[in-house]
Amino acid sequence: GADLVLSGITKRFSDFTAVDNLDLVIPSGSFFALLGPSGCGKTTTLRMIAGLEQPTAGSISLGGKDITGASSYQRPVNTVFQNYALFPHMSVLDNVAFGLKRRKVRDAEAQAKAALDLVELSHLAARRPAQLSGGQQQRVALARAVVNQPAVLLLDEPLGALDMKLRRQMQVELKKIQTEVGLTFVHVTHDQEEALTMADTVAVMNHGRVEQMGPPQELYDLPRTAFVANFLGKSNLMPATVTAVAGDTLQLEVAGNALTLQKDRATDHTGRILVGIRPEKLRMEPDLASAAQDSIRGVVLDASFTGASTEYLVDAEGVGTVGVFTQNHGGALFADGDRVRLAWDPAHAFGLSG
Ligand code: ADP
Ligand code: MG
Repeated sequence: GADLVLSGITKRFSDFTAVDNLDLVIPSGSFFALLGPSGCGKTTTLRMIAGLEQPTAGSISLGGKDITGASSYQRPVNTVFQNYALFPHMSVLDNVAFGLKRRKVRDAEAQAKAALDLVELSHLAARRPAQLSGGQQQRVALARAVVNQPAVLLLDEPLGALDMKLRRQMQVELKKIQTEVGLTFVHVTHDQEEALTMADTVAVMNHGRVEQMGPPQELYDLPRTAFVANFLGKSNLMPATVTAVAGDTLQLEVAGNALTLQKDRATDHTGRILVGIRPEKLRMEPDLASAAQDSIRGVVLDASFTGASTEYLVDAEGVGTVGVFTQNHGGALFADGDRVRLAWDPAHAFGLSG
């Protein structure tokens, strides 16, 4: 397939490094998300893939062919922007057919109609963009990009202008369309939920570098840096000391408690580390005399009942404030001031360099 490969890509704007020695392999036909906070270098990376920006160093290849020096129109790459960039004076159909007609493709109109079918907008083909809703305009922009049958479709925060409800709906549709057309999608977003729901592979960017890359569930379950642990959902990170290594288990001390961690779930196996545990992976129990393994004591500081779940803040002994999410199944809830024990399955914890 036509894999997209970025090797050692760096982009400097005078003495500022926006993208720093990036290595990415994006398999043909995959839905790939570049996820990161504003300013981390996502758009700059997309612009280099599109040929709108020249890298300071490194190379880009597509299907084994070096395209680093190729101009944007020589690349089989199309971009969908957040602001859609539709032609206001043209009908929806003409907007979609425009690129094909310019290249004198013979059945341009028929292909444009098929693309509008794909995004379920055939019935609005005669309208002008201004007569459509934001979500519909976004789908026209998508049809216009897909109709050119690029090898790679770049999407830069394409749902950023939509309200939350429509955004969630479009995420499902966009994913469905990608599966149908089988094109490689490189989707840029700062919305972690969007990246996790849509992508096969997510690369988490920070300060121009990829911190971690992998399938959504793997990134969530086993973050390898504090940045990834905090950017993808919430994490409790507790300082710990490795006291011994026994087979594939690390023995730890966390604020005077003896705990364990699977060695392969830790990036660092000696000295002072951080133990991470997601709020929903913590069990909260009354603080009884018989202490559970892998647990720490605490006092409930705050309980927020949200219906299906309750979010607690617990002052954990020697650790500080820890967040706990519990599903409400009709059992007793804890209240401010309750003395509790927080316990977890060591298979759910992860270890990071301290
Ligand atoms: P993102 O899309 O992740 O928000 P960008 O790739 O747009 O981030 O920008 C990354 C960094 O590079 C930002 O600090 C931005 O200000 C800077 N930058 C982007 N384009 C230019 C440019 N043409 N000249 C100078 N700095 C730029
Ligand atoms: Mg951007």
